[in-house]
Amino acid sequence: MSQYEEKPCFLNGKYLPLKDANINIRTHALQYGTACFGGIRAYYNKNKDNLYIFRLKEHYNRLLNSSKILQMTMSYSYEEFENILITCLKKGEWKENAYIRPILYKSDLELSPRLHNVKDSFSVYIIPLNDYLDIEKGLNTCVSSWVRIEDNQIPTRAKATGGYINSALAKSEALQNGFDEAIFLDSGKFVSEGSASNLFLVKNNELITPDLPSSILEGITRRTVLTLAEENNIKFKERRVGRTELYTADELFFAGTGVQIAWIKTVDKRTIGEGKMGPITKKLHDQYFDIVTGKLEKYSNWLTAVYDK
Ligand code: PMP
Repeated sequence: MSQYEEKPCFLNGKYLPLKDANINIRTHALQYGTACFGGIRAYYNKNKDNLYIFRLKEHYNRLLNSSKILQMTMSYSYEEFENILITCLKKGEWKENAYIRPILYKSDLELSPRLHNVKDSFSVYIIPLNDYLDIEKGLNTCVSSWVRIEDNQIPTRAKATGGYINSALAKSEALQNGFDEAIFLDSGKFVSEGSASNLFLVKNNELITPDLPSSILEGITRRTVLTLAEENNIKFKERRVGRTELYTADELFFAGTGVQIAWIKTVDKRTIGEGKMGPITKKLHDQYFDIVTGKLEKYSNWLTAVYDK
């Protein structure tokens, strides 16, 4: 058992070691995928000896939106939510890059796949996490044979656990065929996103990303990248993207809390641009890492410092 299993998590209103946080096998969310969650990173800055949680308020707001879609009740205010996460991190004496997973789930033992009148519970756990995908080497990707779920099927906007079956199908297909990651098309055959990240391309110095109706999750990293593009005077557009636009792009990268900013080398065996990290990707990548680790004062309002609280 790893040392992290001894660190605290939050379940049923209590802090307890992760190894003891177990739930009943009849739990509604386990049976039907009726849960929504967040994926949040905290970065450790050695010089400042502090841990910074990135865009916590935005993650909380997205969880609230997810709960609305799934007819769930988030019973903790933002201040309480922040306090729970910080208490877990402080009690666990976290001083390394960490991934925080809050999850709101249907915890009743009811036998019926429905949303209303089923009790909700909230939990949080934390694991260490550095790179989820290799962000240096350039990823080899493929367009998935699996189509992204639609808003009217399992809403991608909700970050619902059950929706990740769709991601898992695409990811396994990609890995088992020798690729690093999948790119989804939506049901209209436009480009959507990766299995757990949003997608950006650069063409003629313009940054382009699929728009919200392209069955994407409203990514917080995506929004961050668009803000940085605006501030760097990089032209950008949110719009529909065709499959072969990917093949002819100058640069291509994934953006997400887990993947961070990960450049893509190939799609369906076509080399993107010159087959290396492009200049616009590099600029956004470098700025992103300076921001999340607390090196750029200008963006300190995006960070929650754990050990100043
Ligand atoms: N799309 C999907 C399907 C995801 O799971 C994620 C990761 N949460 C993202 C996009 C990126 O979202 P964010 O930048 O908020 O992590």
